[in-house]
Amino acid sequence: MTTAIPDPTRYQAVTLHNINALPQAELLAKDERFAIDVVSRVLPFKTNNYVVNELINWDDVPNDPIFTLTFPQADMLRSEHFSEMASLVKREAPRAEIEEAANRIRLTLNPHPAGQLEHNVPTLYDEQVEGLQHKYEETVLLFPSNGQTCHAYCTFCFRWPQFVGIDDLKFATKQAEGLIDYLRERPRVSDVLITGGDPMVMKTRRFRQYIDPILEADLPNLQTIRIGTKALGYWPYRFTTDGDAGEMLDLFRRVTASGRHLSIMAHFNHPRELETPAVREATERIRETGAQIRTQSPIMRNINDNADDWASMWREQVRIGMIPYYMFVARDTGAKHFFEIPLVRAWSIFRDAYDQVSGLARTVRGPSMSAEPGKVGVLGPAEVAGQKVLTLTFLQGRDPAWVARPFFAQYDESATWLNELRPAFGEEKFFFEDELERRYREGIAAGTAGSH
Ligand SMILES: *Cc1c(COP(=O)(O)O)cnc(C)c1O
Ligand code: SF4
Repeated sequence: MTTAIPDPTRYQAVTLHNINALPQAELLAKDERFAIDVVSRVLPFKTNNYVVNELINWDDVPNDPIFTLTFPQADMLRSEHFSEMASLVKREAPRAEIEEAANRIRLTLNPHPAGQLEHNVPTLYDEQVEGLQHKYEETVLLFPSNGQTCHAYCTFCFRWPQFVGIDDLKFATKQAEGLIDYLRERPRVSDVLITGGDPMVMKTRRFRQYIDPILEADLPNLQTIRIGTKALGYWPYRFTTDGDAGEMLDLFRRVTASGRHLSIMAHFNHPRELETPAVREATERIRETGAQIRTQSPIMRNINDNADDWASMWREQVRIGMIPYYMFVARDTGAKHFFEIPLVRAWSIFRDAYDQVSGLARTVRGPSMSAEPGKVGVLGPAEVAGQKVLTLTFLQGRDPAWVARPFFAQYDESATWLNELRPAFGEEKFFFEDELERRYREGIAAGTAGSH
């Protein structure tokens, strides 16, 4: 009998349904294999042949960071939730019963952090524009309906509710017309960020249905198109050997030839994702189109909570022509307890990495929380008037007037998110809270207020 050697460049999703067909599944201990079965009833699970064969170091499983990045583990659920689901799975409970328990557990995991759904959907002529979010004046997010999945799912992802179907995707859009009308009425918007999921899961033919109309429309304010993607990390063949890779690169070329900037906002969590020949080649090809690649990642316990990984990631990125952009704090949702690290520790890892790299890598900013009022950066601990404080700043704000103003919280070594911090110096509120509340009350969103 002969066994066909699978083509490594042919995408093969790995999910609960076919995980046992992986040769590597035999390397998993019985309880690890069972944990995947249990946890993936609640949180999304999907990985692929590239991640499994070319990124994960199976000698180091289950501690391997890339394994942790896409494979569910028991501790990603709280123990009471794990036990409940484990007993349902063990006794092969009916599907509906499992689904009911899963949904109940999911609702305890803060599925809608940072007021995304309530506060960021823009309106034009008093109607909501489908498929857009607009939180910061300069940048509108576009969610194409065919781009709401990914080549693999990150176990920490804050978009997990849409992957398990508890958020419907009606907010996503099939076309660019609403965006174009919106951009005409909002001259301050300079950037469109196409995001998901991962828009690079789309065939070029479909993706073009969003880009072409934008390029054809006369939009003098539009300077930059950004594409948020993890394809360089999870499926670099998207830009090399996939059937329509060349067409995608041609499309990139058309964007840059139109006189606009194309920025690939690439998500990399660990230096290993930068090492394979496939990602190197994909990077070269993208850069040849005139696009820039900027990089971002959250900082997470069990994956990348050490300074040396960050320093080598940033160094390597600069060496191959990428621009380090953001370090995020893990969002307050999903398996947060498994990944979270205190803000002070995140800052200290950031600092210890930042001090090892050249100024060219210090374009990176962070650690940053994407919180309700804005992107709040942790500048670090300080002593002010004899009090120990934590210095913060807005990297982005719902109100542009908040940006780049240092402010102070009581020093707290265990806080992991903005809502756990208290203002310093006995003040009752942070400086932005009244204005934030006024904006919510009066329905002031990005693009609707007179600018300051
Ligand atoms: C991060 C983010 C942006 C982009 O912010 P930049 O600082 O310009 O990169 C835009 N909209 C939302 C909702 C964001 O979270
Ligand atoms: S690739 Fe991005 S959107 Fe997809 S699961 Fe990972 S973090 Fe979430």
